[in-house]
Amino acid sequence: MSTATGARPRWVDDEGAALGAVARDFFQAEVVPHFERFDRQKYVDREVWRKAGALGLLCCEVPEEYGGGGGTFAHDAVVFSEQARSGDTGLGNPVHSGVVAPYLVAYGSEKQKARWLPGMATGDIIGAVGMSEPGAGTDLKNVRTRATRSGDHYVLNGSKTFISNGAQCDLIIVVAKTDPAAGRHGISLLVLETADAPGFRRGRVLDKLGMHSQDTSELFFDDVLVPAENLLGEEGAGFGMMMRDLPRERLVIGVNAVAAMERALEESIAYTKTREVFGAPLFSMQHVKFELAELATIVRASRVFLDDCVEKFVAGTLDPATASMAKWWLSQNQCDITDRCLQLFGGYGYMREYLVSRLYADARAQKIYGGANEVMKDLISRSL
Ligand SMILES: Cc1cc2nc3c(=O)[nH]c(=O)nc-3n(C[C@H](O)[C@H](O)[C@H](O)COP(=O)(O)OP(=O)(O)OC[C@H]3O[C@@H](n4cnc5c(N)ncnc54)[C@H](O)[C@@H]3O)c2cc1C
Repeated sequence: MSTATGARPRWVDDEGAALGAVARDFFQAEVVPHFERFDRQKYVDREVWRKAGALGLLCCEVPEEYGGGGGTFAHDAVVFSEQARSGDTGLGNPVHSGVVAPYLVAYGSEKQKARWLPGMATGDIIGAVGMSEPGAGTDLKNVRTRATRSGDHYVLNGSKTFISNGAQCDLIIVVAKTDPAAGRHGISLLVLETADAPGFRRGRVLDKLGMHSQDTSELFFDDVLVPAENLLGEEGAGFGMMMRDLPRERLVIGVNAVAAMERALEESIAYTKTREVFGAPLFSMQHVKFELAELATIVRASRVFLDDCVEKFVAGTLDPATASMAKWWLSQNQCDITDRCLQLFGGYGYMREYLVSRLYADARAQKIYGGANEVMKDLISRSL
């Protein structure tokens, strides 16, 4: 796997390194040349998902018996890293393989896993998770989407917003209230299969500051019938399941943050060594050298912290407070580093044809989703 120093993290085994090489070539060949088109259309071609699946880049942690790679979180993390390094944030694999598939593996029945996971591993089924609503983002207990049991179905009503993979997804884990009077104990997770689901409607793909090729969308449910057998886990246990899985989601954000800031730093070092000002390379100025030295130090420290967190997560020993530290600190560093890197490019850094501009704009959402960074600090403080 590629890193700023070229050293392979301890959590990357030989198999992971080989997977990283495949992922690197895949993103360079199948995604990077199409950035502009994907940005304009606001989604990545379905064919790209299928190609990723054929190469074994989706659902690496899903057991082989369900069509997955049979690896660990580390294998998915290698793929996420190579994607972030390439500058792509359009292919929603970090949500698909890093959030949706692990929910199904952890809480799905045998029948559910056999029904959905093989298609997710090939890229024929794209997964999404619908938690946020116009009136309930951070405050998830306030979701208004209702699922009312009626015979062998639930009747789903409500709406979701900001849903990654929203325009293309075939399967959505929907967070809904099954017992509104029971607070957090009345929240359940239902798997909605979007094909042939009367009453399900996708809204517009939202216009964002960055991540232009990610099909972040609004979703609407009007009396949608969801088979009762699509309930994930127990009725009323949804909130607890979401809380248990949050450290993984936070670590995925950290993995992407470090890979993206390493790439921004490398781009900046290369640029300042070739850009001439006042008859000498930009890099020869003391300010620029000191700036890059500071950035390289922050990036290195971020890598060391992340690697420690990933090793602990794979070993099952990463505590939630440390996962929250990784989420806020690494995404904050990502935003700071990409901002300072962009500055070194002058006006060119503000132009979208330069990768640093994409890295800067795409970074911003990382401080918001997966739990806003302020919430991370609140959670950390409770452990002190
Ligand atoms: C690009 C993108 C992709 C997304 N993808 C998904 C997805 O796939 N699925 C999904 O369900 N959601 C998704 N989201 C939604 C995201 O998870 C929410 O935006 C996030 O949880 C914040 O919720 P909110 O926007 O309603 O902000 P609010 O809850 O209104 O919070 C606004 C701000 O208030 C502050 N704040 C809130 N609560 C506290 C607190 N307790 N203590 C201190 N400060 C606080 C924070 O600064 C926060 O940013 C995505 C968002 C974006 C931008």
